[in-house]
Amino acid sequence: MPCTPFQLPDGTHGFICSRGRRRAPPPCSVDGCDASSGFQCDYRVGRKRCDRHLCAAHAHEVGPDVHFCPEHFALWKREGAPVQASIDFDAGSETS
Ligand SMILES: [Zn+2]
Ligand SMILES: [Zn+2]
Repeated sequence: MPCTPFQLPDGTHGFICSRGRRRAPPPCSVDGCDASSGFQCDYRVGRKRCDRHLCAAHAHEVGPDVHFCPEHFALWKREGAPVQASIDFDAGSETS
């Protein structure tokens, strides 16, 4: 079984093993990046997932084994972070 070692920038490493015929993973879907992808975007779009192929540099980990593409990561930070939802509570109530 052909196995290809890989190492990610954060130090994670391992092997990608292909069964039978050898097939390279699809390249990262980010424009200008042709690194091979080890991740897919897990962001839910309607009833399915985004599923964009992402390399280690462009897959943003938001939880255990949950990764978002750069666009959905930005969206998630802007709209999907309930922790920051009510921090600026008294903004906009200036009276003089
Ligand atoms: Zn990439
Ligand atoms: Zn995505």
